[in-house]
Amino acid sequence: MKYDLIIIGAGPAGLSAGLYAARAKMSTLILEKDKNGGQIVITSEVANYPGCIEEETGPTLIARMVKQCQDFGAEIKRDGIVSLDLAGEVKKVTAESGAVYEAKAVILATGASPRKIGCPGEKEYTGKGVSYCATCDADFFTDFEIYAIGGGDTALEEAMFLTKFARKVTVVHRRDEFRAAKSIVEKAEKNDKIEFRMNSVVEEIKGDGIVTSIVFKDTVTGELAEVEAPEEDGTFGIFVFVGYLPQNELFKELIELDDSGYAVTNDLMETKIPGVYAAGDIRQKSLRQVVTAVADGAIAATQAEKYIESLE
Ligand code: NAP
Repeated sequence: MKYDLIIIGAGPAGLSAGLYAARAKMSTLILEKDKNGGQIVITSEVANYPGCIEEETGPTLIARMVKQCQDFGAEIKRDGIVSLDLAGEVKKVTAESGAVYEAKAVILATGASPRKIGCPGEKEYTGKGVSYCATCDADFFTDFEIYAIGGGDTALEEAMFLTKFARKVTVVHRRDEFRAAKSIVEKAEKNDKIEFRMNSVVEEIKGDGIVTSIVFKDTVTGELAEVEAPEEDGTFGIFVFVGYLPQNELFKELIELDDSGYAVTNDLMETKIPGVYAAGDIRQKSLRQVVTAVADGAIAATQAEKYIESLE
């Protein structure tokens, strides 16, 4: 099973790389352990990807990306990966099915996942009040109340962004001191729409099709408190910003990662291993969005093509 290019991950970065590679007539295999699409498929409306205007959802956008990719000849297989051997000219990918796939170049597009709170109701109400992306979902909570969970830079910066939409944003943090930079904390404290609930964790999220209440636990006293949605609203938003987890398990010993575990590449998406590229959210970068992921994928595939030509 020998390919020109193997792409690991069928999110926007992987699918864009697949499209560019297949259009360039490279034999291309995309391996995905889960369902296609990555994080964007948990987004019920896509309003900030250029060209997506009406009734675009994460799943509809991904379905079109998958079709486009396959129409040009890229193969997509559902197979988890057990190990990677990336050092030599022939890259070997050993999969859970037992198959060993070989290629001349590999693009790592495994993404990153928002860290979860891990409480009951979180999974059930994701996309129905619980969100991990302010840029994607803030608009749905215009004039509603929002709880922003976390005490790092992301939580406070995103809380400030959310005040452009929400009536009130309550930042919920498990300690009495923020992890976020002092300058960011001070700015958030000056924002009239932001309130703080310190020494609190989310114990449970409850609802009735959509989120209707949240149960907090005081981390000092252990006391529980259930907060219901205001009657006139019937619901509120819960935005979770408790860190991200780059999906680097497979290659963390093989390529250079930054201190947070993201893959280090240059502008051409090249890692330090010839023929090995990283694209999308797994990369060290400043903005993790579909629009930046697809750009990375296109660049990585184009570079892979040049690399493969140089081998011949
Ligand atoms: P982070 O710095 O890892 O902070 C995660 C926050 O979530 C922490 O306050 C942590 O609490 C809390 N937390 C973790 N698990 C939790 C749980 N299960 N329940 C409740 N709270 C939980 O993550 P981040 O804020 O996403 O930032 C990631 C990196 O990007 C950082 O290096 C940050 O400096 C950087 N960043 C920089 C900027 C900027 O410079 N403008 C903006 C955004 C991000 P504890 O504090 O108690 O551990």
